[in-house]
Amino acid sequence: MKILLENALILTDPFSELMNSKVLIEDGKITKIGDFTDQQVDERHDFTGKLIMPGLVNSHTHAAMSLMRGIAEDMNLQDWLFKKIFPIEERLTDKDVYYGTMLSQMEMARKGIVAYIDMYFHCDAVAQAAIDFGMKAVVTRGLTDSGSSSDNGRLRQNIEYFERWNGRDGLISVGFGPHAPYSCSLKYIDQIAQVAHSLGAKVTIHLYESKNEDYPLSELLRTSLSKCDVIFAHCVHIKEQEIDLLARPNFFVAHNPTSNLKLANGIAPIQKMINRKVQVCLGTDGAASNNTLDIFYEMRLATLLQKSTDPTNISVEQALSMATLMGAKASGLTTGRIEIGADADLVVLDIQKPWYLPIEKLKAHLVHSANSADVFATMIKGKWVYYNGSYPTINESEIRRVSKEVMEKLIDIES
Ligand SMILES: [Zn+2]
Repeated sequence: MKILLENALILTDPFSELMNSKVLIEDGKITKIGDFTDQQVDERHDFTGKLIMPGLVNSHTHAAMSLMRGIAEDMNLQDWLFKKIFPIEERLTDKDVYYGTMLSQMEMARKGIVAYIDMYFHCDAVAQAAIDFGMKAVVTRGLTDSGSSSDNGRLRQNIEYFERWNGRDGLISVGFGPHAPYSCSLKYIDQIAQVAHSLGAKVTIHLYESKNEDYPLSELLRTSLSKCDVIFAHCVHIKEQEIDLLARPNFFVAHNPTSNLKLANGIAPIQKMINRKVQVCLGTDGAASNNTLDIFYEMRLATLLQKSTDPTNISVEQALSMATLMGAKASGLTTGRIEIGADADLVVLDIQKPWYLPIEKLKAHLVHSANSADVFATMIKGKWVYYNGSYPTINESEIRRVSKEVMEKLIDIES
């Protein structure tokens, strides 16, 4: 399968200059960029007035929670979690999680996201939904032992998910998801990390999300976690002197500014982290605490929050890098670049809008005036998963219909 994209502007990565060139995609990979002679292709797209840029990455989410969007508004984290979310989650089935994940993938693809890092349960359903949609996902099972000696088989289940799904179709990476240091004992986190390390799997964990969380990070890092590739979600209340502990090539911080504001958890010190060489990427968290899955929006918000104290904070390149390159690196599933040999994971943006002028300053517009509604198409591994209003890989009306039924059931449980 050969696909030629022509007449578009190309941003190959956040640090490069814009260029006019063609892109050739063969069997899911980018094989040519530049002004080459046309050849026989299966699909040819005239992208005059459009920009091709690397796909965005959502580095922290709970995709199936789109089923619970709007269900728990105006609450603090503890009430939100224990009074609203957990009672509903207890009753979720594989089918519910499949459709919730599909719904989120539709939203993410519509907004230019090509890969996401998920923590949830019923992970067979999550992985199947990602495969069926054609989206890249790091699938992790949320793990807790709540300080007791048993985790009710959750770690065993996570290992089975790894055996069943890891590497499937080049789309899935199965990782491990110890929920948080307050819901997992250190011994349990160490056990999980040892397993993850032996399998070469990633780990993701919530860290310092709310101000009530007080545990020494140094102790956590004395476990086998220090050897793993870890995505720490939130890190809002990290202590100043602990920031350097996260500045390691195998560690990433997933910053979720909307969710942190909405649950009154505060603002993570990401400029300080970036200054101290911590690798920061962006997440949306679940749609029950955001309520959108929009990395363009998170990128702009993350930037503005840091600029509230110093306008030189978070450059345009740093912002774009968090949304693409850093998330890509954290996920290990995509490169975050338009480059020869890479999977064709890209976004096509309609830039024939007044807010993209002057075109010479387009990179600044992508951060400060772009809107995810400007996404014209999203391609993952050379397949269009969203194209000008339609979703070529799925039956959209069936997903809408079943999701609606599932949500009606959940609202019944809630009331
Ligand atoms: Zn989360």
